[in-house]
Amino acid sequence: MNTDKNIDLELDLEKIEEFGKLREDQNFEFRAFLKGQDPDMIDKTVRRLNLEISNQIDCTTCGNCCTKLKPCITEQDIKILSQRLNFSPQQVKDDYIEIDEGDQYFKNFPCSFLKEKECTVYNDRPEDCRSFPHLHKKMFVSRLWGVVENYSICPIVFNVFERLKTELNYKSYGKNSDYRDSQKRGY
Ligand code: SF4
Ligand code: SF4
Repeated sequence: MNTDKNIDLELDLEKIEEFGKLREDQNFEFRAFLKGQDPDMIDKTVRRLNLEISNQIDCTTCGNCCTKLKPCITEQDIKILSQRLNFSPQQVKDDYIEIDEGDQYFKNFPCSFLKEKECTVYNDRPEDCRSFPHLHKKMFVSRLWGVVENYSICPIVFNVFERLKTELNYKSYGKNSDYRDSQKRGY
């Protein structure tokens, strides 16, 4: 297993979005490859990579998840937000929440609480925001659809996924298979 940590992190959001499109086929293949691996070994590796990489990324200079994704909101989240905003829970629902297939989400994106890439309710943010991008959770291999979707949005996910390919010596024979070649071409 290659444990070389000297790989530059990609933080450019436009490039990450572009790589997401370029690597759609490869990520689909890698997803299938991961499903054949020992899930406990993958969890352990992803948790370590997540720690290493998230410690090098400052979310307050990014905020892309708050711009592109709608967190799922629980009743407890609404209660906490209502106290924070000095609103009634119903007022929070009326102003900020929409229902989709029975689940509650913030209805606006970028999120109404995002200002200059920072969360204005940070200490009282919803649980889904706290745990994003969910890479510390068990059974990574059972959550790969979501991971691949977040690959083109979140620099932490992008860099963890790419490092995972390297550490597992994953070789793709699909198109656009070499990430670093793509970088050199200035995508
Ligand atoms: S509540 Fe804060 S962390 Fe959650 S989406 Fe909104 S701005 Fe982002
Ligand atoms: S979790 Fe990912 S997308 Fe969200 S602010 Fe941090 S690096 Fe950016």
